[in-house]
Amino acid sequence: MIHPARVPAGLDALGGELAIGGRRASAWAAELDTPCFLYDRALIERRIAELRAALPPQVRLHYAVKANPLPELIAWIAPRVDGLDVASGGELATALAAGGDAGHISFAGPGKRDAELGAAITAGATLNVESAGEFDRALAIAVAQGRTLRAALRINPDFELKGSGMRMGGGAKPFGVDADQAPLLLPRFAHPAVDFRGFQIFAGSQNLSAASLIEAQRQTIALAARMAEHAPAPPVVLNLGGGFGIPYFPTDSALDLAAVGRALAESWATRPPALAATEPVIELGRYLVGEAGVYLTRVIDRKWSAGELFLVADGGLHHQLAASGNFGTVVRRNYPLANASRFTEPAAETATVVGCLCTPLDRLGERVALPQTQPGDLIAVFMAGAYGRSASPTAFLGHPLPAERLT
Ligand SMILES: *Cc1c(COP(=O)(O)O)cnc(C)c1O
Repeated sequence: MIHPARVPAGLDALGGELAIGGRRASAWAAELDTPCFLYDRALIERRIAELRAALPPQVRLHYAVKANPLPELIAWIAPRVDGLDVASGGELATALAAGGDAGHISFAGPGKRDAELGAAITAGATLNVESAGEFDRALAIAVAQGRTLRAALRINPDFELKGSGMRMGGGAKPFGVDADQAPLLLPRFAHPAVDFRGFQIFAGSQNLSAASLIEAQRQTIALAARMAEHAPAPPVVLNLGGGFGIPYFPTDSALDLAAVGRALAESWATRPPALAATEPVIELGRYLVGEAGVYLTRVIDRKWSAGELFLVADGGLHHQLAASGNFGTVVRRNYPLANASRFTEPAAETATVVGCLCTPLDRLGERVALPQTQPGDLIAVFMAGAYGRSASPTAFLGHPLPAERLT
């Protein structure tokens, strides 16, 4: 087992094997075939409880569906969180089909087509408006439908969230309306067909620095209060974004959630009067589900090349692009992985675990310490619950789709 500290807490051994959801890896592989994704609901439940305990009680916790849109998972998580955030018409349909309450669904994302806007308006979901043009189109559709446009304005903040894996606000961005342009658009939300909901300000993703998140949340509250002066009504909701990161790499430390919660309680308690009646929302994807997922793949071949040992697995970047280092990373680093069949055996060799695709990009782990590993052994790639199958090029090379199971 490598980086034992990086095997997410709650994933333990059973009879020498890795167990997921209390069941041995070999049993899952026998039932679902390999490769497959397993999501341990007990770990997601624990994470939700940690968030509820750490964040101030007023905070509404939303799940960002794009992290993992498995319908079974959405149906299970919907009643355990306070809302769902979707980013496409497809995700909206999945969220509605999974029983998500449209009154607690918000729809963000650039480039919403008319049909997507129409579906959100018909359902009564909140549109997080990304531009003046989008506002015009949405309003015209709502008027044509004879319905109300429930809309919040997404603001591209005039500050950056420092230390984010992925910046999604600050500077020139395709997301939201720039903070200095928003005052021109906001008065138009006074139209009688518009139900003005408030603001969404999402600065970035995958952030492990409590100090950066705390600072961004403070600035978000201040910015929302300034924007509220230009709005036709007090904001009902302030979506503060999220961006809570998870520790993928040995050099990462877990986010100090308690510190974020304490600071948010303080900054919310002392918020400007313009936000007195506003509800704060935190939207999280990977922090809720990322560590609960395991990608299981079976070793097909074992071979040496120029002194390097290669273990060739039946999975790869077509299912787990992020683990191969080709999804939003500059320097390739190993996701934690282990031999799930020999989970309790000590490391005995160094091997590079590659996938089955005919491209040098398809690496799941470079020079990792593993027990003596044989064809037939199962490899577990951890941190696979978010941006896994749905964020990977599954059609590339024509392999079958991997099974997914909420355990
Ligand atoms: C992607 C996204 C999220 C989720 O980000 P995570 O890093 O998975 O928490 C939340 N909000 C918006 C607007 C997003 O685009």
